[in-house]
Amino acid sequence: MEIKITRTTRPVAKPLAQEEAGTLGFGNYFSDHMFLMDYEEGKGWHNARIEPFHDLAIHPAATALHYGQEIFEGMKAYRGKNDEILFFRPRNNAQRWNDSARRMCMPTMDPDLYCQALNALVDLERDWVPHAPGTSLVLRPAMIATDPYLGVHPSKRYLFFILCSPSGAYFKNGMAPVSIYVEEELIRAAPGGTGFAKCGGNYAGSMLAGERAAEKGYDQVLWLDGKEHKYVEEVGSMNMMFVIDGTIVTAPLDGTILPGVTRDSILTLAKDAGWKTEERKISIDEVYQAAREGRLDEAFGTGTAAVVSPVGRLCYKGEEIVIHNGKIGPKAAYLYDRLLNIQLGNYEDKFGWVTVCK
Ligand SMILES: *Cc1c(COP(=O)(O)O)cnc(C)c1O
Repeated sequence: MEIKITRTTRPVAKPLAQEEAGTLGFGNYFSDHMFLMDYEEGKGWHNARIEPFHDLAIHPAATALHYGQEIFEGMKAYRGKNDEILFFRPRNNAQRWNDSARRMCMPTMDPDLYCQALNALVDLERDWVPHAPGTSLVLRPAMIATDPYLGVHPSKRYLFFILCSPSGAYFKNGMAPVSIYVEEELIRAAPGGTGFAKCGGNYAGSMLAGERAAEKGYDQVLWLDGKEHKYVEEVGSMNMMFVIDGTIVTAPLDGTILPGVTRDSILTLAKDAGWKTEERKISIDEVYQAAREGRLDEAFGTGTAAVVSPVGRLCYKGEEIVIHNGKIGPKAAYLYDRLLNIQLGNYEDKFGWVTVCK
C-alpha cells in the first residue's frame, strides 16, 4: 500500500539529556511522527499516512470510548551494530494482532501491511532510536473503534495508529529482582474471555489488584486462574516461568494468558540450551511446596519491556517465600543474555528472528 508522508516542519528536541542521565523511563516521550490508517466497512484499510505527531479528534460517542473496542501491541526497535535499526519477530506481533482483532470483532490486517507500516515509520524516525545501552524505541500500534453511535455493536469504522516512544532501560541499576503479590480474589481472565487478546480492557480490569499489591509493598501481581483460583497464569505484562528441579515450567496457552513473543523465544532458547521445559498447568501450591522443599531454583517473568525479569519474592496468603536468595538465578541470567544479544544483533540469529529496518 502507498503511504503518504507529511514531514513535520517543527521537529521537537530529542530527550538526549534524559537518555544520558538514564531517566527516559517508559513511554514518556514521543517522536516527531505517527502512522495512521483508516478502515471502513466495504472499503477496507485505506488512507495510510505518516503525519507529524498530533492529538486525535474523535467523536465523544466513539465505540472505543464507551465499550472498549480497542486493541494494541507492544514492540521495540533496537539500535544494533553499525547503527542498523532492528525489529524482533515483527510477524509474530502481526499474527497476534489479528488474533486480538478477531476476538474483539475488529478488522484484521495483512501481516505484510502491518510490517510495512512499522518499517516506514521507524525508517523515518530512525534518529529517535536511542543509543544508550538498554534503551530502545518502544513501538505502540493501536486500533480504536470510531463509529459515532451509542448502540452496542461492532463499529463499522476504525482508526489504526502507531506511536514511537524512546524509552529507557527497564532495569536502571542492573537487573533487580521484583517482588510479587499473588492475588487471591480478583481475576484477570477466565476461560472463554479475552485473556489471550491484547486489549485495553484487560488492563483496566487489572489495575485495582496492582494498587492493592503496591499498598502491601509489592511490585507486581501474579494472577491465578479465574475458575479455581489455583493455577498460576501470568504477571501484569509478563508471562511467568518457574524453574523446579532444573525444569522450566510455564502456564499453557489455553486462552486465558497472553501468548508472549518473549515467552516463545525464551522457551526456544531454553530447549536449544538442552534444558527441559514444560508448558502445563502449575498450581501455586506446587510452587510453594517446591520452595519449601528447596526445589524451586528460580522464578522469572518474560515480556518485551524487561525481556527477562527475575522474581526475588512471592507472597501468597500472607506467606512470603524468597527465591534464589532474592538474586537473579543462572538460567534467567543466561536466557536474558542470549535473547537480548540476539535482539541487538550481537549473537548469531540462529532462528531468523531479527529483521533490519530498511
Ligand atoms: C504483552 C503482554 C505479555 C508479554 O508479551 P510479549 O510479546 O512477550 O511482550 C504478557 N502478558 C500480558 C498480559 C501482556 O499484555
